[in-house]
Amino acid sequence: MPASEATVHRICPFCEACCGLELKVADGRVTAIRGHDADVLSAGYMCPKGVALRDLHDDPDRLRRPLIRRGGQFVEAGWDEAFAEIDRRLPPLIGAHGRNAVATVLGNPTAHKAGLLLYGARLGRALGSQNVFSASTLDQMPRQLAAGLMYGHWLSIPVPDIDRSDYLLVIGANPLASNGSMWTVPDFRGRARALQARGGRLVVVDPRRTETADVADRHLFIRPGGDVFFLLGLVHALFDEDLVRLGRAGACVAGLDQVRPAVAGFAPEAVAARCGIAAADIRGLARELAAAPRAAVYGRIGTCTQEYGTLANWAIDLLNVLTGRLDEEGGIMFPKAPAFAANTAGAPGSGCGVTTGRRRSRVSGAPEVFGEFPLTCLAEEIETPGDGQVRALIAIAANPVLSAPNGARLAAALDRLDFMVSLDIYLNETSRHADVILPGLSPLEDIHYDVPFPQLACRNYARFSEATLPRDPDRPAEWETLLRLAAIVEGRGAGIDVHAYDDELFNAELGRLAGDRAAAIADAVAPRRGPERLIDLALRQGPYGLTLDAVRKAPGGIDLGPLSPRLPEVLRTPSGMVELAPPPLLADLARAAADLGRPAPDLVIIGRRHVRSNNSWMHNLPVLAKGPFRCTAMVHPADAGRLGLTDGGRARIARADRAIEVMVEVSDAMMPGVVSLPHGWGHDLPGIRLGLAAQRPGANLNALLDEDLRDPLSGNAVLGGVEVTMQPLG
Ligand code: SF4
Repeated sequence: MPASEATVHRICPFCEACCGLELKVADGRVTAIRGHDADVLSAGYMCPKGVALRDLHDDPDRLRRPLIRRGGQFVEAGWDEAFAEIDRRLPPLIGAHGRNAVATVLGNPTAHKAGLLLYGARLGRALGSQNVFSASTLDQMPRQLAAGLMYGHWLSIPVPDIDRSDYLLVIGANPLASNGSMWTVPDFRGRARALQARGGRLVVVDPRRTETADVADRHLFIRPGGDVFFLLGLVHALFDEDLVRLGRAGACVAGLDQVRPAVAGFAPEAVAARCGIAAADIRGLARELAAAPRAAVYGRIGTCTQEYGTLANWAIDLLNVLTGRLDEEGGIMFPKAPAFAANTAGAPGSGCGVTTGRRRSRVSGAPEVFGEFPLTCLAEEIETPGDGQVRALIAIAANPVLSAPNGARLAAALDRLDFMVSLDIYLNETSRHADVILPGLSPLEDIHYDVPFPQLACRNYARFSEATLPRDPDRPAEWETLLRLAAIVEGRGAGIDVHAYDDELFNAELGRLAGDRAAAIADAVAPRRGPERLIDLALRQGPYGLTLDAVRKAPGGIDLGPLSPRLPEVLRTPSGMVELAPPPLLADLARAAADLGRPAPDLVIIGRRHVRSNNSWMHNLPVLAKGPFRCTAMVHPADAGRLGLTDGGRARIARADRAIEVMVEVSDAMMPGVVSLPHGWGHDLPGIRLGLAAQRPGANLNALLDEDLRDPLSGNAVLGGVEVTMQPLG
């Protein structure tokens, strides 16, 4: 061991599992990374991505200095020069065309960095534009909307209490690869094994025999996009076979009488062909679910990225409520986060609920949901002239050219902008369109606090990570960058004293929140600034009354115990009840009913998740990129035979006038009639600086998808289940 080697602990920011890591640091470099055995949430678990923190930090492609486009080329610039360029171009544009002329796009990593999340919100408020877009409308808004309508807040989302459950039905999710999504559950494999070891059952419903299905007690194929029909068939069977038992939560439930007639047209026999699961199997699963001592139903990406995403997610929670699993140990329960949770703030037990459609997007008329428009509307908002046309964009850790449907159209639209700023760690498929790129920090250079994820975790906890490595003194923290951008869009200039500005914003907020206690709280959290001050404030105001100092002293975190019952205090619906029959959802059932007879296409495409990938830039990290090529199009042997496809051969997948070329992988893990390609690939576009990823670029599934296909309630994109053709290439 080198004399200067130190052991430090930090939270992995790469996915929602939020594992605790133990790092060895010597001579300013991370020399080893492993799971932190004493971590209160992950207890030593980590997946292969965790090790890649070091690769990301050391990646020569990672941007360290701002880039400014000059004469069509990016040139390195100083920070002051970059901010001056933004200050020169953005305020005049706002002055001439108004605030809605500037859009913001927030990418997935925003949720994993406290500075980006907390100060992205400050930038948004300073800008005051209605044109807000994020990755949420690519894969999670249906979950948030369904929960919001039922429980009263967008982040009041009950999660399976897996550690005490006896039966877990997983649909459209692959937690063995993801370790949970909208459900923080590190070491899902270990927890699932423990469930099985105590006699429990894991049942997976998915068009692919996923890694999770491989360890399950039972796997059923489902026709892509058929989830809502299967789930409503289960709900129908519960009523039909007199299996509905609300249990303790029944005292807090409204609308039960409306649900039974609403699902009358979705008997298992009526939905079987549409979802590809026999009626007898649906009825059998309903009985199994109802009979299990402690059970939970969990759905994720596959249930969100389809035409009926909100209905499907509502049906998942209906199943949990109707079988008496809501708010019960081993069922689905509401985490109680130590900070930042709206469902621990304000008066307990009722609130304003959620509202959508307070405004509509200018071109398609898509309703606003949770303060944003569908990301799939961005291209048309840039292309279409008129009052409110988007002419400038601020992209924060976002790569929608790869992650959103029809990236080619969006890329062309980005080139038509008058001005674009990206805050990003890479020159990637989206940031290549920017006029100024402001580099983000390596996570190792930054503090870490899980702002949203304790609200979704399988156990209550509080943890904080210090920066592992120092950042260059001339590099601002990401929150400082965002605050400077906020000052620019407010017309206060790039030269603002960001710390004084931070004080000003904090004091104004504190005055609103704390009234005459403001001065005492301000003293207590001083002399912190930036996210640390906001985290300290939120912890102090949270339900456990913690302080940042106390959390800091526990490198493995503070265990706040298993999930515990929270009804009715967790609710923020106007009625103070769990709303089982929100009118927008009941109304949308007619759309599903009209679609019951849709025949199965010859071949449809779906995405897939791999444990070594999450964000597109992970394809540039050596430890994750090594090994077999993963961007393969998996097809069933029967499909391969009839289409003339060979394992390892090349093929063309087409939809309408768009096509991609892929490598074929023949596998009986696929449902016949379904081809699967992972998302986030396609690193062959000109102008990117992702050297390793470009060596094996893969193909972009989203290039085939239509931007106008979305769940009308949530605005979420349809990212799978669409018909394609496939033919071999020589
Ligand atoms: S599962 Fe992997 S990527 Fe996710 S937090 Fe844990 S170590 Fe990081």
